[in-house]
Amino acid sequence: MTDPTCPFDLAVRAWPAIWLIDLMRYLIPASAVALVLALLPAAARLSRQVRARVPAPGQRRLEFLHSMLTVLVFSATGALIVAGVHAGVLRLYTDWAAFGAAYGLASFVVLVLAHDTWFYWTHRLMHRPALFRWLHRTHHRSVAPTPWAAYSFALGEAVVQAVFLPLALWVLPLHPAVVFMFLAHMIVRNVLGHAGVELLPRAWLAGWWGRWFTTTLHHDLHHAQGGHNFGLYFRGWDRLCGTEHPDYAQRLEQLVRRPKMAAPLPSP
Ligand SMILES: [Zn+2]
Ligand SMILES: [Zn+2]
Repeated sequence: MTDPTCPFDLAVRAWPAIWLIDLMRYLIPASAVALVLALLPAAARLSRQVRARVPAPGQRRLEFLHSMLTVLVFSATGALIVAGVHAGVLRLYTDWAAFGAAYGLASFVVLVLAHDTWFYWTHRLMHRPALFRWLHRTHHRSVAPTPWAAYSFALGEAVVQAVFLPLALWVLPLHPAVVFMFLAHMIVRNVLGHAGVELLPRAWLAGWWGRWFTTTLHHDLHHAQGGHNFGLYFRGWDRLCGTEHPDYAQRLEQLVRRPKMAAPLPSP
């Protein structure tokens, strides 16, 4: 017998649908990027490849299985968010007019900036030897990551990543559409970061995008050499804290200027 007014019962009833949404949120972008990579003509792939390393045998399977665990953690967190909203602890508002369009847009920007900050500092902490083994080693098993590595976390790291959204909802009133945009942006950037091939237009990489935002090369260098490039969306924290890979800017420029039939970049 369930009580429709009990936050816990609400969370339990909401969980299967949330799990399905979280599963699709991973499967659709990861399989779309994997398909694009598979269909990319060899010359185009070679001219945009960020590394010579190839994924290890069985790596994709492990990335997928760990991602399934993360989907479970994320969906459990989503169910707890439902309970938190019902209990009045977390602030999800459904009337768009209550705060207006300017607030909606601003809250999205704040959410992305805050998540970039959360990710950078928790990521750096997880690289401390005492924590790395328990929290972050699973993600770094992929030395040449694939799109399927987007959620390839150990249980502890999945919890660290999941906790951000309830914390944000505790501080900031958010509309479900803003939460959806934030999660969609997060997974798309995450999948692209693990693709091993730059899929964005060269003009973007050479221009404003490359100047401010992270690229596939940026995160790939992190998987190759864990001591640099901890950022998720922006280059800001890495540049400010001196943790950006010393060769990153030069290698990005080389990649952008690489002729269509060139050889891939050497392994770091
Ligand atoms: Zn990664
Ligand atoms: Zn790392």
